[in-house]
Amino acid sequence: MKIRVKVDEDLCIGAASCVTIKPDVFQLNDENKAIVLDPSNQTDCLQTYERWLEVTDDEYEQVLLAAQSCPTLAIYIFNEGGDQMFPEM
Ligand code: SF4
Repeated sequence: MKIRVKVDEDLCIGAASCVTIKPDVFQLNDENKAIVLDPSNQTDCLQTYERWLEVTDDEYEQVLLAAQSCPTLAIYIFNEGGDQMFPEM
């Protein structure tokens, strides 16, 4: 499935629990904020807080777990249609 993952850099406090759970998608940048990586394209090193990702069901569950682990709920997940899947509205 295709999802859009977004980190609100103003909310991110660099707690890194997302990095612990899903390090191929979340890494901290020089400002100690989580950026979003594309695990299927590791040569794309663009430092961005928002990306479209193609994920398997298992990968989606891991990204969701990472988002749920964030103490400030700084990670947003949207489906292909643009609906916010997490945090639930
Ligand atoms: S868990 Fe949340 S606060 Fe911690 S680095 Fe990830 S996005 Fe930032």
